[in-house]
Amino acid sequence: MNRYHKQQLFAPIGEAGQRAIQHARVLVCGCGALGSVIADQLVRAGVGVVRIVDRDFVDITNLQRQMLFDEDDVRQQTPKAIAASEKLRRVNSEIIIEGIVGDITSETIRELAADVDLIVDGTDNYETRFLLNDWSLEKNIPWVHGGCIGSYGQVMAIVPGKTPCYRCILPEEPDPGTALTCDTAGVIAPAVHVIGSLEVSLALQLLTKTFDDSKPSIWHVDVWRGDFRKIDLTGLKEAGGCPACSGGQRDWLHGQRGARSAVLCGRNAVQVTPSSRAKLSLEKFRQDWQQLGVVTSNPYLVKLALNDGTSVTLFGDGRAVIGGTEEISVARGIYSRYVGQ
Ligand SMILES: [Zn+2]
Repeated sequence: MNRYHKQQLFAPIGEAGQRAIQHARVLVCGCGALGSVIADQLVRAGVGVVRIVDRDFVDITNLQRQMLFDEDDVRQQTPKAIAASEKLRRVNSEIIIEGIVGDITSETIRELAADVDLIVDGTDNYETRFLLNDWSLEKNIPWVHGGCIGSYGQVMAIVPGKTPCYRCILPEEPDPGTALTCDTAGVIAPAVHVIGSLEVSLALQLLTKTFDDSKPSIWHVDVWRGDFRKIDLTGLKEAGGCPACSGGQRDWLHGQRGARSAVLCGRNAVQVTPSSRAKLSLEKFRQDWQQLGVVTSNPYLVKLALNDGTSVTLFGDGRAVIGGTEEISVARGIYSRYVGQ
């Protein structure tokens, strides 16, 4: 009797499937609401290496749905990747869990996603998904897409060369302001748990080689209305016309597309990323900022709270989350004033 006994009893997995799971390396992109569900289930399932990458830290408004975090994490402003990996190591000490505080960009994806068998989407933005899709097609690594807003979400598995890709269903990013976001529509925990669980179900099928890529589909789910629809995508890829999997475009991977600043969903905050990666002395900023406002810090970040209600939370790689605004230009101004270029 091992800890995976019940999972092995499940016939489609069995002992061989369990071995495959334990030999697998999986990247979880983003560890907010969906990422928490995904990372938790992958770790409990025994995936050999679970790499959790997230750029943000824990905020009080996360606790309603982000199941790996608690009020201690809010008080200590723990980066989500660290809080999640520390918690999950207590769940399963027999596997490798890597918590990486950082952003997945066209620069960083090469080291974060080169050696994995599978990528699972826990992100909250189109840009990262287009980048993951480019990488998946380029490197022939499958990925599972999931997204969630309000009570509604969608899930699909993407196997390069076999199934339609993400750009087959969404050729271009929606124009700013046209897509629903968690800010305008909110999001409820049951939707997150259902979508995250469907993503892991597909992930386990892919890892155990039981996924049927001859019948590609996308799930649309509304947990409030109790509406589950599986939409057949057979023939979509063969119809051609996809700029990525038919046309070979890799705009996000090659850095031709993708902004350097992003409004963080539901946070009244903007992330500003410097044009090249830095290695900052956070201690220096902690000291320099003392006379400017209230400074708090932990080993991963320094936060300066200013009198006007805005704040700068600076990470060691030079990224900053500017709080108290959703205006990218305002955020960039604050960044250049307090962090410099
Ligand atoms: Zn495609």
